[in-house]
Amino acid sequence: MNSEAKLRKVYLDHSATTPVEPQVVDVMIPYLKDKFGNASSIHSFGREAKVALEDAREAIARFINAEAREIYFTSGGTESNNMAIKGAAWLLRDKGNHIISSKAEHHAVLYTCDYLKKQGFDVTYLKPDKYGMIQPEAVADAITDKTILVSIMHANNEVGTINPVAEIGRITRGRGLLFHTDAVQSFGKLDIDIAEIPVDMLSFSGHKIYGPKGIGGLFIRKGVRLEKLLHGGAHEQNRRAGTENMPGIAGLAKAVEISAERKERDYQFVKHLRDSLFEKLQQEIPKIYLNGHPEERLYNNLNLSFEGVEGESLLLSLDLKGIAASSGSACTSGAVDPSHVLTSMNVRPELAQSSIRFTLGRNNTMEDIDYVVEILPQIVARLRAMSPLA
Ligand SMILES: *Cc1c(COP(=O)(O)O)cnc(C)c1O
Repeated sequence: MNSEAKLRKVYLDHSATTPVEPQVVDVMIPYLKDKFGNASSIHSFGREAKVALEDAREAIARFINAEAREIYFTSGGTESNNMAIKGAAWLLRDKGNHIISSKAEHHAVLYTCDYLKKQGFDVTYLKPDKYGMIQPEAVADAITDKTILVSIMHANNEVGTINPVAEIGRITRGRGLLFHTDAVQSFGKLDIDIAEIPVDMLSFSGHKIYGPKGIGGLFIRKGVRLEKLLHGGAHEQNRRAGTENMPGIAGLAKAVEISAERKERDYQFVKHLRDSLFEKLQQEIPKIYLNGHPEERLYNNLNLSFEGVEGESLLLSLDLKGIAASSGSACTSGAVDPSHVLTSMNVRPELAQSSIRFTLGRNNTMEDIDYVVEILPQIVARLRAMSPLA
């Protein structure tokens, strides 16, 4: 008998990607079949796509209290971040060459800034506090007369810490600077009201909110100009060339609609599961430490360090039991580097190496949590017994 067939599967890696909601798949299928029109065509096929495109834009705009014309569809969070940061830097390079970001950003921001550095921009990567948070004062202190852009993420993908983006935005606005935030992890989980957060650009992605992969968007506040990333047709108000991904866009709009409907329920339920998991693991396993802010943290995130155990070994052992989690470690040329986020928070290298991230989702159950609580303490005990560090 195949033992895989009997294995229980528990998915706790929702910050990497989420399962697509069946209702999302349902709204996408017509755009892969009969409704295949190009939204730029003037005939009935095209007009049908155009209506769906603008309906989706409207729905997403409403979700963050923006105007429809402030929403631009992209291929996902990575492109949105590139479009915002490169677009602003390239357009404003005559005004100044200084960009402020942070050491805890997603690579889609970090490496975009590194690239701009090679082009002669000067980038200040702010160091977060021990909870992974960027304080507004740190942003204020880093501003020079050459600063043109600030890019600070809304919520961190590894430790879930939520940054005070409204305060940061008030500072940047007061100084006449552009402010971009990578909201890929917070979008759909936290309230985002563009009228309350003085942000000029905000990135989001479909596959982190139970939507499809390869679709996302960028909110660009009206009046904000950017240099183009992609050149071609006049799509997306002549700011992002390329025939619109209609199945993806319809799916993204549906995923947003479901997130809006389920917001309170998801928050209560997933937070309850997450808190139960932490509580029970603390009872069962000595010497475990929480990474990230104790309160100002996404409700589905639990990033823990297990003293004396390699995070990668933990992940492999969990995977053998059907449990999917992740670590922020990067594998470079055979060696495992600790997460750049934990390192930036001053987490000791051994503890950073021993961390794993559980990110829960709306389809998890208390049985999933009980299963992890049954399996994980045994794995930790076994690995600690084998470890020369213990
Ligand atoms: C996943 C993620 C991205 C990248 O989004 P894609 O749609 O996968 O390109 C960017 N930023 C954060 C914080 C993310 O979690």
